[in-house]
Amino acid sequence: MKIICIGRNYVDHIQELDNEKPGSPVVFMKPDTAVLEKGKPFYLPAFSQDVHFELELVFRIAKVGKNIQAEFAHKYIDAMTLGIDFTARDLQSKLKEKGLPWEKAKAFDGSAFVADFQEFKPEYLNQNWAFSLLKNGQTVQAGESDCMIWKVPALIEEVSKYITLKTGDLLFTGTPAGVGPVAIGDELQGQLMGKTLFQLSIAWLWNFQ
Ligand code: ZN
Repeated sequence: MKIICIGRNYVDHIQELDNEKPGSPVVFMKPDTAVLEKGKPFYLPAFSQDVHFELELVFRIAKVGKNIQAEFAHKYIDAMTLGIDFTARDLQSKLKEKGLPWEKAKAFDGSAFVADFQEFKPEYLNQNWAFSLLKNGQTVQAGESDCMIWKVPALIEEVSKYITLKTGDLLFTGTPAGVGPVAIGDELQGQLMGKTLFQLSIAWLWNFQ
C-alpha cells in the first residue's frame, strides 16, 4: 500500500506558504510505514521543532488502474475520509531551499493519520465537501472540495499516468489554508460536513537512548 499526496491544491494555502501556483499537480508519496496506528496518539518526532498539521480529504483506491481517464475515476474509489498529512515544516523548508526531495519532512513514521473510512458513492465526486480541523476546540482549518484547483478525477488521471494505482492505496488531496504547528497535549478534532470523524492527541515519545 502506498500513500499518494497532492501538494498545493488550494489557492489560499499556496499563498500562506508563499509558494507558486504549479502548472500541474505537485505529487509526493508516503510509504505504508507512515500510517499512524489506529488508537495511538501522534508522537512528536525528535528531529523537528515545527511539525504542522495539514487536514485533507482522503480517497481509497478500489482496484488496480493505470492511465485512468478522469470520467472513470469514480470506479477506482471505494471509500473516503479525512486524514492529516503531518509535516516537519522546518525540515521541509530546508529541503525546499536546496531543491531536495521532501521525504524526511513528509514521509516519516506516523506522518499519515487516516480517520475511519466512510461510504463512497460516485455522485460524491460532484458534491462540495466541507471539512474542518479544530485544535483544542478552536477551528484552525476549514476547507471545501470545490476550492481544489485539481478535483479528484483530474488527480486520479494525472497520478495514474505515472504510477499504477493499487487496491488500498490512499490519495491525500491537499490541504486548505490554516496549517499550523502541533504541541504536546494538543487535541485535534476533524469534521466532515459537520460530523466529527476523529479525535487525535499529540504526545511526546520518550527516547531512552
Ligand atoms: Zn499535504
